[in-house]
Amino acid sequence: KLVSREFRQDDTIVDVNGVKIGGDEPFITMAGPCSVETEAQIFECARIAAEGGAKILRGGAFKPRTSPYAFQGLEELGLKYMRKAADKYHLQVITEVMDEAHLDMVAHYTDIIQVGARNMQNFKLLQAIGKTKMPVALKRGIAGTIDEWLNAAEYIAAEGNMNIIFVERGIRTYETATRNTLDLSAVPVIQKLSHFPIIVDPSHGVGIREFIEPLALASEAVGASGMIVEIHPNPEQAWSDGQQTLNELEFKQMMKKLAVIEEAI
Ligand code: PEP
Ligand code: MN
Repeated sequence: KLVSREFRQDDTIVDVNGVKIGGDEPFITMAGPCSVETEAQIFECARIAAEGGAKILRGGAFKPRTSPYAFQGLEELGLKYMRKAADKYHLQVITEVMDEAHLDMVAHYTDIIQVGARNMQNFKLLQAIGKTKMPVALKRGIAGTIDEWLNAAEYIAAEGNMNIIFVERGIRTYETATRNTLDLSAVPVIQKLSHFPIIVDPSHGVGIREFIEPLALASEAVGASGMIVEIHPNPEQAWSDGQQTLNELEFKQMMKKLAVIEEAI
């Protein structure tokens, strides 16, 4: 299989316009709001992200919400705002595509295409993304096994796209004290089985603000190539996922601690 260690022994480094993810490259942080809300909000998020040391701006313009009545995202307008904000602060963009019909549009604005947990096995979407050859962040399905996740990545690789980043974002278990169960063991397991990098999403992984920092630190310590984390100038007012979102101070404090671990490992 193309994603396997047998196929390639060296670590694959995914190069996002000069920002390198994987192997012995520094731990990369992707930060931004759950949803792009307004132009001012995404510019503030980009400023905070850049000042804190993030290299990539996250933000959803197409949102996979549990309820059809919840905010679904600003769509193309959100993509435009995010691109402008990222360019101002010299950040790369990562955003989710939910539907093959929107792939060309999303690809026009973003640097990394995100496949959400709910679409890990949307095979036609994976194949279409494979054909773009663009960097792609493949989130682990809500109940995805490691083997299913590797096979999902294979759908992308089989179309010729070798720019895959695995994203551990927690899985559903019997435990309800946290939103999901963040499976940090997936990091060394994926690293053994695949040459592609793996990063961690502590925000969706635990879903509770006070637990984001300890799990972000653990993600770096366990050897992940980076993380993706939700931030907002005013999490209490966020249109989605405010309960798991860090404010400016919390984010910057966490980034300082991450830099200490970076030195130590
Ligand atoms: C997200 O990152 O915005 C998101 C919806 O995450 P997930 O697909 O992991 O639920
Ligand atoms: Mn979210």
